[in-house]
Amino acid sequence: MAFSTLSIDWEDFGQLYGKYHYKDITEPVNGAIERQTDIILDLLDETGHKATFFVLGILAKYRPGLVKKIAAKGHEIALHGQNHEAMFSLSPQAAQKDLEDSLKIVSDITGDKIYGYRAPFFSVNETNLYVLEILAELGLTYDSSIFPIKMSRYGIEGFNQNDALYQLQNGMEIVELPLTISQYVKKKWPVSGGGYIRLMPKFLVNKVFADFKTNGKDSMIYMHPYEFDTNWINVSDNYPNDVTYSKIKVFALNLRWNLFRNSVREKIKSLLQQHQFKTCLEKANYVKSNGNSTKLLGCPK
Ligand SMILES: [Zn+2]
Repeated sequence: MAFSTLSIDWEDFGQLYGKYHYKDITEPVNGAIERQTDIILDLLDETGHKATFFVLGILAKYRPGLVKKIAAKGHEIALHGQNHEAMFSLSPQAAQKDLEDSLKIVSDITGDKIYGYRAPFFSVNETNLYVLEILAELGLTYDSSIFPIKMSRYGIEGFNQNDALYQLQNGMEIVELPLTISQYVKKKWPVSGGGYIRLMPKFLVNKVFADFKTNGKDSMIYMHPYEFDTNWINVSDNYPNDVTYSKIKVFALNLRWNLFRNSVREKIKSLLQQHQFKTCLEKANYVKSNGNSTKLLGCPK
């Protein structure tokens, strides 16, 4: 039996836009994350499935009520780190602090134990596998940050594509739920999320996931709240008044963030209607209770 997982990297477009373009962590844009989260929650209610939300610390800080609302619906709350930093760009000490900060803020809000983590930009690769050791030391059960394919900014070529339990160098264990890739025309594609779901026509999305089902392959879908939005994203709304871009640049940025975005809800709904879904934690617990652990050849801190 093949299961899918819908995972949401729960972050605010406007807040991150401010952070990366102006080096300033601002409040989330008014109303946007609320509207987008409600769309996702309604889709899940309508289809009767539970999802995993990887919650970003700096967003949880401004929207604790929304995190509680997601948890109250029975969805899994996990971590997406504190400041949305690429983990391989941080020292081991800074990576540890980012994880500790996000664990504290999110578990203080929900009052529940947190079991899982996804790194921003899938930024766990062969250079910083010690992140997995930090997660295990913080009491987490699983990680879902590794793309088993080398892309320009992320991934580990040849990494095990299946969910598995690993023995770490610190003597602890962790389950890794890798992101899903697919092989078409002799090439591997990271088909299961964000931009790919947005750009592929609906029949192709359905075909890719039907093939997973036929082959008994589990799949991990990853999406972001803004991708479900019904409103047009205007990047000009997300930068301070004293910053101006040329009209052409604004047009290009808007096109990038809005192209085919309106099709996402229908595509995800169609997958939710056709497939069996489990949360990341359900999968991790299954792997833990059924699998032998393999030694992970990591790198020291
Ligand atoms: Zn993210």
